[in-house]
Amino acid sequence: MTSRQPAGNGAPHPARADPACALCTGDGGELVWRDDVLRVILADEPDYPGFTRVIWAAHVAEMTDLAPPERARLMEVVWRVERVQRDVLLPDKVNVASLGNVVAHLHWHVIPRWREDRHFPQPVWGAPAPGRDEAVARCRRAAQARLEAYRGALRAACTLR
Ligand SMILES: [Zn+2]
Repeated sequence: MTSRQPAGNGAPHPARADPACALCTGDGGELVWRDDVLRVILADEPDYPGFTRVIWAAHVAEMTDLAPPERARLMEVVWRVERVQRDVLLPDKVNVASLGNVVAHLHWHVIPRWREDRHFPQPVWGAPAPGRDEAVARCRRAAQARLEAYRGALRAACTLR
């Protein structure tokens, strides 16, 4: 960790960017924190307040495109995000996933899950559970109430020394 830029600077990594890639041309969500190699964003997923992505700045597809210290750096931030979710959002479970089938630009999903959320126990990309609108709304309100504290805790946790 050598430098930090203030939130809102959406410039992708200059050395490896693909102009056709949504994660090279945009932040991919609400930017919460970034440094020169990665960023942490809140995804626009209405049923999942707190759904967070850790996105590598350069346009690479796989973890093995990174040097081992870069991999370690990326995963350290993923685990810090998970820790903050557990501490602040109080989910029943945290899902951590890297797929990249739709956008082949390396990113990790860190998703707080509740037993009564829209898809539990399926992945958030699976079939929704039927007849759960009230419970989903309750989960959503509870998470939204903690979201500002979550943003602050994330920024603090990601600022590595
Ligand atoms: Zn990209």
